[in-house]
Amino acid sequence: LSPIALHLYLYRSRARSSASTFLLLGSSGAGKTTLATLLQGGQPSKTHTSQEPQTIECYLPGTIEALSQGYRSQNDPTVKAERKFAVIDTPGHGKLRHHAIASLEGPESKELRGIIFVVDSAAISSPTGLTETATYLHDLLLLLQKRRADAKSSKGPVSLPILIAANKLDLFTALPAQLVRKYLEDEITNVRTTRAKGLLDSGVGMDDQGEEREWLGEGGDGPFKFGHMAESDIDINVVGGNVVGEKGQAGEVNEWWAWIADNM
Ligand code: GDP
Repeated sequence: LSPIALHLYLYRSRARSSASTFLLLGSSGAGKTTLATLLQGGQPSKTHTSQEPQTIECYLPGTIEALSQGYRSQNDPTVKAERKFAVIDTPGHGKLRHHAIASLEGPESKELRGIIFVVDSAAISSPTGLTETATYLHDLLLLLQKRRADAKSSKGPVSLPILIAANKLDLFTALPAQLVRKYLEDEITNVRTTRAKGLLDSGVGMDDQGEEREWLGEGGDGPFKFGHMAESDIDINVVGGNVVGEKGQAGEVNEWWAWIADNM
């Protein structure tokens, strides 16, 4: 093998093994699996409830430009490789969430470029739906905050951007994206207080110096804002869309594609 061929071979195998990967999270029924089929094949399709995380290979459509692609032509063979990414679809059911958490801690987490947290924007207009979603999001953000704090001392994982995909905006009962953001921030404020009180009552998480306080965000005791996560290098965007459109056709997810392209 000539040095150039070897170099090319190494470059290709590295390119292949390191497809940008995004983790799909969110409550059961939010639309994760339908979104995964849309990202994969351009059409949403009927889904079955998955029990295990699944890695799905996808390509950016021609209309969306990856930042890394620059000015090069679509016919350039390296462009196709650069348009490739993967999503990991995870079961949303409470009892199966350990799979989702495992995806953040396992070896595959090194390839992670971001998290897409899918929200049913209609379901969170009910108190139960809101609390369920906000609790999941609170726990996820706290995990990422801790992971980030640990990474500062060792050569640990870097932080991840999060897209909160406010889905099902085609439904008449859905909240618009700005309200999805506000409802979630307010409810996370409540979840945080409940969690802190629970820990206090049980005596867990209080060491002698009282330093082990598990408190989400750096914004102090005031209302929680997603912007507070910037301290932990976690960039959060809430963007509306709908995976399914009229008569089961593909809906409107262009802004999500754009977010994926920017983070590949
Ligand atoms: P998952 O549990 O998060 O994987 O959710 P699924 O992908 O199984 O979706 C749950 C249900 O919501 C399915 O019946 C989907 O067809 C439906 N769904 C997903 N996205 C949309 C959307 O944008 N609009 C509407 N109206 N329904 C959607």
